[in-house]
Amino acid sequence: MDQIKKFVDELDRDLISNGLVFVIGAGASVASGLKTFRGEEGHYKDHRPEDLASPYGFRRDPELVWEWYQMRMRKGFEAKPNAIHHSLVDLEKHNLLDIIITQNVDGFHHRAGNSPDKIVEIHGTITKSHCFDNCGETFDYDVAPGEIPVKCKCGSLQRPSVVWFGEILNSDDLMQSQNKMQRNKLVVTIGTSGMVYPVAALPFIAKNNGATVIDFNTNSSPISEIADLFVEGPAEESFKIFSDYIISLFVE
Ligand SMILES: [Zn+2]
Repeated sequence: MDQIKKFVDELDRDLISNGLVFVIGAGASVASGLKTFRGEEGHYKDHRPEDLASPYGFRRDPELVWEWYQMRMRKGFEAKPNAIHHSLVDLEKHNLLDIIITQNVDGFHHRAGNSPDKIVEIHGTITKSHCFDNCGETFDYDVAPGEIPVKCKCGSLQRPSVVWFGEILNSDDLMQSQNKMQRNKLVVTIGTSGMVYPVAALPFIAKNNGATVIDFNTNSSPISEIADLFVEGPAEESFKIFSDYIISLFVE
């Protein structure tokens, strides 16, 4: 891992002390035992992802959609944050973390202990649901619901607070994320394939604006090709080395 230390040694210290910006993808949760969306769970009962995760699919068969989310909530709540999430908490404790923009809906950054104002769950979270008919009610979960589909207080149904196919991202979240991709920023991507837009565009926006981009991923991707440093392999090991080394530079 000399590659990492050598790269960090050559970085402008101000770049680090400004706080690191993270873009996190499904690969960061693999070490916790969660599969990626299009992995095994993506073939749930041989349904297309759109049938399980779209307003259209929900209207047609809310029970099927809730069954899938009930299963994902069970798996997610049973699983635990891993070394990547814990390292992000360490960085925040040392004031070296600007923001975590995560595509993951598992809620692990909150559970690991990062502050809510440091986390942008740009694709939503399975730890919350809200009224499908927008009566305004929201609900929090730390265990999967037993009875499905889950009713709202108004008599309509609750739906998971995740961004589905055919839905747009929260515009404040997206704008805040884009604004973080600036010059004099160190943007670190972990376990993201660079395939799901508009989040996939963020590292490219960063690169175009003069930011330094570091990519941790098991495979090369469009992001690794533009990254100033690409660290290939399971990130739970290499990222801890990276973050521990960064922190060591700022601890007297
Ligand atoms: Zn309602």
